Amino acid sequence: MSDIFDQYEPVIGLEIHAQLLTQTKAFCGCKAAMSDFPNTHVCPICLGHPGALPVMNKQHVNMAILMGLATHCSIRTRSAFSRKNYFYPDLSKGYQITQFEDPICYAGSVEIEQEDGSVKHIGITRIHIEEDAGKSLHDIDIDTLVDYNRAGMPLIEIVSEPDMHSASEAYKYMVSMRQILRYLGICDGNLEEGSLRCDANISVRKKGIKAFGIRTEIKNLNSFRNVEKAIKFEIVRHIELLESGGTVKQVTMQWDASTQSTKELRSKEQAHDYRYFPEPDLGYILVTQDMLHDATMLLPELPLAMKQRLSHDYGIPYYDAGILTEDKSLANFFEKTCLQLSVKDKERYKLVCNWILTEILKILSDKKISINEAITISSKGIAEIVDLFADEKISSKIAKEVFSHIVQTGESPLQYVESKNLQQISDEHIIAEFVNSALNGEAENIEKYRAGKSNLMGYFISKVMKISNGKANPRMVNDLLNQQLM
Ligand SMILES: [Zn+2]
Repeated sequence: MSDIFDQYEPVIGLEIHAQLLTQTKAFCGCKAAMSDFPNTHVCPICLGHPGALPVMNKQHVNMAILMGLATHCSIRTRSAFSRKNYFYPDLSKGYQITQFEDPICYAGSVEIEQEDGSVKHIGITRIHIEEDAGKSLHDIDIDTLVDYNRAGMPLIEIVSEPDMHSASEAYKYMVSMRQILRYLGICDGNLEEGSLRCDANISVRKKGIKAFGIRTEIKNLNSFRNVEKAIKFEIVRHIELLESGGTVKQVTMQWDASTQSTKELRSKEQAHDYRYFPEPDLGYILVTQDMLHDATMLLPELPLAMKQRLSHDYGIPYYDAGILTEDKSLANFFEKTCLQLSVKDKERYKLVCNWILTEILKILSDKKISINEAITISSKGIAEIVDLFADEKISSKIAKEVFSHIVQTGESPLQYVESKNLQQISDEHIIAEFVNSALNGEAENIEKYRAGKSNLMGYFISKVMKISNGKANPRMVNDLLNQQLM
C-alpha cells in the first residue's frame, strides 16, 4: 500500500485569515473589540444600513503593508476595493468589502525550515485587505443568535502558492506565518478564538506530472494539529479514491474532530457566484513612498533571523534558540538577562537559556501566561541567580530554592541569599569538618568503597550535603572526599 502513496505528490496551498490588532474596525469608528459583550460595538456602517458610508482605516492599510514587506511581497501603490456579494445572516449588508483583482501585496515568499535544517521558500500569491462578517452563535439559545461585534473587523487574507507537498510542510508554514504576524505585533494569532483562521486547498497528482489534480478545500481549521491531521486525511482520501478508479469532486470539506475525518460541507462555489464588482463607496488605496519608508522602519527582526542570530551570537544550541524565538517576548527576555550578567560568556548564556527553557517555561505553561505577565520573574533576578551559581556562591539546589522563592515574592535573589545566609560554603577547613563528620561511623562503607563499590561515593556526597544544609560547595566536597577515601 505504501508504494501507491509514494507514487503521488500532494499539492497544498493555504489561505490564512488574520484579524488585525487595529484600534477601530476596518471601515467605521467602532472599537475593534469583538470579545466584548455582544453587539456593543456596532454602528450603521458595520451593520450595513442603507446610505451609510465606509471610510478606510489607515492603520489597517499600514499593517497589511508591514506583513507584505515581512513576506517579501511587492506592494501595489494603487489598489481598489471590491464587493463580494453573498447572503448570510451574520453578513447583514449582503456583501463583504474585500480586494479582488489588485491586492495590495503580491508575489512574495516566506522561508520554512525543513527537517534536515535546509530552508524552503513558499510563495505568497497575494495579501489583501478585507473585513470580517459577524458571528452566528448556535449554542447559547434555542435560536441562533448573531453578534455583530465582529462585523467589519479588519482582516488580511494571505494566499500562498501551491508550494507545499506534505501536511508537515503546511503545518510549518502555518506556524511560521503566525510567528511573523506576532513578531510584527499586528495579530494575536489565536486560532482557538478565531483571530487566525486557515483554509487548505489540497490535490494530488502522480509524480512527474505537471498538471494539478482536482482539489478540495478544507474550511476553518482552528488548530495547528487540525491543519496537519485534516490535510493528511484528505491526501490519503484523494489517493485511495483515485486508485479505486474514482474521481475527486471539487468540493468544500470540513474537518470533524470527533470522527477525525473530513466531511463534505458544500459543493464549491465558483468565483463568479460572488458577483464581485468595484466598491463604489471607497476610493483607491494609495501607498506613498513615505508610507513604505515608515513601514520599512517599523519592520522588526523576523523569527528565523533572530533564531539564527541568538544561536550564533550567544553560542546556544540551534534547537534551544528555536524554542526561545517561538515567542518574541521570551527571546527578548533571554537577551535582556544576558546583558545583565556580571560576566558575559557563552557558559553563562547557556545557563540563562537553561533556566528559561526549564524552570521559567514550566511556570509559564502551568499558569498559562506569557513572560511579560509573569511580574515576579525579572531578567535582573535571573541574571543574579545565574551569576551567584556560576561564581560558586550558591549550589544548584539552593539556586532552585532561591528561584522558587523569588517567583512567589519578586524579591532580589542577591538580597534573599544574603538575608537567609544561603551562600555556598567554599572554605576548605569547614568543608573538611563536614566531610569528617559525614565519614564518622562509616568504617564499613569506607572499606567497601575502597574495595571497589564506587557507587557509594554518591551516598557520601549526599551525606555531606545534608550536614551542610545543602550549602557546601559540591565540587570541593567531591575533591575532599576523593582525597580522604583514596
Ligand atoms: Zn461600526
